[in-house]
This record gives sequence, structure tokens and C-alpha cells, in this order.
Amino acid sequence: MQMQDAKKGNITKEMKIVAKDEQLDPKKICRLVARGHAVITKNTIRKKVHPIGIGKNLFTKINTNVGTSADLCDVNLEIDKAKVAVKFGSDTVMDLSTAGNLHEIRKKLINSVKVPFGTVPIYQAAMESNGKHGSILDMNEDLIFNVIEEHLKDGVDFVTVHCGVTKRIIERMRKKPRKMGIVSRGGCFLASWILHNDQENPLYKNFDYLLEIAKKYDACLSLGDGLRPGCLEDASDWYQKQELFTLGKLVERARKENVQTIVEGPGHLPLDHIVDNIKLEKKVCKEAPFYVLGPLVTDIACPYDHISGAIGGAIAGMAGADYLCVVTPSEHLGLPFVNDIKEGTIAAKIAAHSVDIVKLGKKARKTDEEIASARAKLKWNEQFKRCVDPEKAKKIFKRIPSKTNACTMCGDKCALLVLKKYLKS
Ligand code: SF4
Repeated sequence: MQMQDAKKGNITKEMKIVAKDEQLDPKKICRLVARGHAVITKNTIRKKVHPIGIGKNLFTKINTNVGTSADLCDVNLEIDKAKVAVKFGSDTVMDLSTAGNLHEIRKKLINSVKVPFGTVPIYQAAMESNGKHGSILDMNEDLIFNVIEEHLKDGVDFVTVHCGVTKRIIERMRKKPRKMGIVSRGGCFLASWILHNDQENPLYKNFDYLLEIAKKYDACLSLGDGLRPGCLEDASDWYQKQELFTLGKLVERARKENVQTIVEGPGHLPLDHIVDNIKLEKKVCKEAPFYVLGPLVTDIACPYDHISGAIGGAIAGMAGADYLCVVTPSEHLGLPFVNDIKEGTIAAKIAAHSVDIVKLGKKARKTDEEIASARAKLKWNEQFKRCVDPEKAKKIFKRIPSKTNACTMCGDKCALLVLKKYLKS
């Protein structure tokens, strides 16, 4: 187990891989994992996966969600989406399917990529309960934990578990609703279940059992933000913070049992809330890696929420967020298609990379420096090869034939050409 080994000072094979990718000493990775400041997402039974590190002092990672819905259930489309996400730099993929044979879809998706793979098991538990009893509200506790174990047996490397949606918080929300209520699917399933059954969230109540299951597979728990704000008006409110405080305590319990944790965060936040939110998570959750779902900095951006998410993600990353969620142009509007995933992944990757240029300095800037050198010399193929979307870049370059070696933006008035002529460089 990564954390157990790390605490003993044993450097695992996975730590060495992460150290090489991060250009760091394996001992440093070992120390980060031991403290829970970074995680290595790898299920012990998943073979064909390249483990990655997420956390402090590491490259900022991005995750892309794919998955079927009741309105469009096409596993091949989801596989194409997962592949395009990886092609454009997604470090992990999560399957958020809610329709079709979830077991089959998960197996096909996990086999289609070599990056760490995550799921949200409560979706399957809710779907199975709905199929059996006609309602998600009759989902029993055994079903929830059986489904979690089924996912881990399938090799899932990390699971989102909304343990912080507690009865106390939800009861208050019933009396004092917020503008957008609950926008997390998992959070909403559990909140409805809590109110209907008048019982505590099984994932919170039986957290020790959840740790036992996670330990068997060395799976990482991504503590979900079921109460994340769904609009700016709900940003940083009592509900969001209470959930975070609960997650902070769970992080400590998990660390004692050598279970690695990530904490998930907002959501929709105005620009001036982002830094404080990141600082709060880092303090309350004792520097556990922070995975932010955006944050989206305005509510008006659709169908450009990927831009809103990249702006929020860049600020969050600068403040210490470690892992950004891809937001696609179809956010708030519909199930993303392949091109939406591509656009969203590129936007999040640019945000993450921009953060790393500052956070990690020289080792993150290599490609920027190479592109700048190629750009200065008008070496177009060198630029295309290294930029985020070579195909699109080439297409735009060739749209209007150039009469010079410059692009058609300035043509023969190209500053770089003119300078070359007069400086005779
Ligand atoms: S033509 Fe203008 S935009 Fe194009 S490379 Fe030269 S200076 Fe840059």
C-alpha cells in the first residue's frame, strides 16, 4: 500500500514512476505520500495503468468525466470521448455513466485507457435500487457498499464518495433552502435518501467500513463535494463549508488507516472567493490534494463554460489546487460530444500548464521556450508539433495562402520578417 509503505520509508515501484515523471527525488514523493499531501492513484489489481501523483509540488493534473445518460447511452461514444480526453492531455478519466449496463460500460471504458480511472459508485447503487424497487430512496446500505467493492474489483483506481453530506446539514437545508439546492448528482441522491429514510448518510456512518474496502485495493477515496455551490449566489455558504469541515475530519481518519484521500471542491465561485476557498481546504484538510470542479467564475458563460472553468482553474491552481476538472462547452446544456470533450480538455490543460509555469518554473516551461524559439524563426512545423492542438493550428495557418514565410495576419509586414531583414539575423 502506497501510504503504508511511504510511512515506513519504503519507496514503491509506483513512487519511482511518479518521481521520474515529476522530475523529483523518489524520497520526496515518498514523504509527500506519507503525509497525505500527495496521492498515487493505483488500484493494486489494475495492471495496465500508468500511475500518477496528484498533490503538493507536483504538476497540476486534470480529470475528464465521460459517461452515458438516459437520453443517450452509447458506450462507443463514451470510449471515443475517453480516448480524445487522454490524447489532449487528461491525466485521469472518470466514468459517470447513469444508463445502460453500467458494469459492462465501466469494463469497456477502463480497458480503453491507460490513465488512472475513477467512478462514482453511488450512481450505480441508485440505478440498481431504482430498477429493483422503482425508487432510489429504497437503496439499502449493503447495496451501496457492494457496488463500491464491485467497482474496486474491476480495477477502479479512485472513487468519489459523498461522505460529507450529513443528516444535520441536510435537515437544515430543508428549513433554510439555498438558491440552487444541491447540484451534485451523488449529493442529491444521498440527501434525498437521508430525508426519506430519516437516517444518517451510510457513507458517513460506516466510514470505517468504507476504509476497510478501500484498503483491500489500495484505492484512493475522492471525498465528494455533494454540497458544492451550483451558482455564485450559493458560493462559500454555510452548507459548503460544513461539508468541508466534515471532510477534513474524515481525511485524518483515512490517513490513520493508510487510505489515501483527495478532497473535492467547488463548483461556482466568484473570482474573489477562490483563493480563500483553496486556503481553507488546505488548512481544514491538512493539505490533502484538492480537486476543484471548475471553479466556474460566472453563471452566464454557457456554452463557453470551459473558458469560465479555465479562468477559475488557473486562479485555483495558483492558490494551491492540485487537480482540475475538465468543464466542457456543453456544461449545463447537455451530454458532451467528442469535440466538446476535446475543447474542454484543452481549456483545462492550458489552465493547469499556466499554473505549472509559475509553480514549477523551468521544468514546466521547456515547451514554451521551444515554441518561442521556433516562433521567432518562423519555423511553423516546429510550432505545430509542440502546441496544444497541432491539427487545428495547421488548419488555421493554411486557411489563407501566405505570400511570404510569415502568416497571413501581417503578411509582408510581419514584425519578425522585418526585424530579420534589418537586423540581418
Ligand atoms: S505575420 Fe504577424 S502574427 Fe504572423 S508571425 Fe508574423 S508577426 Fe506574428
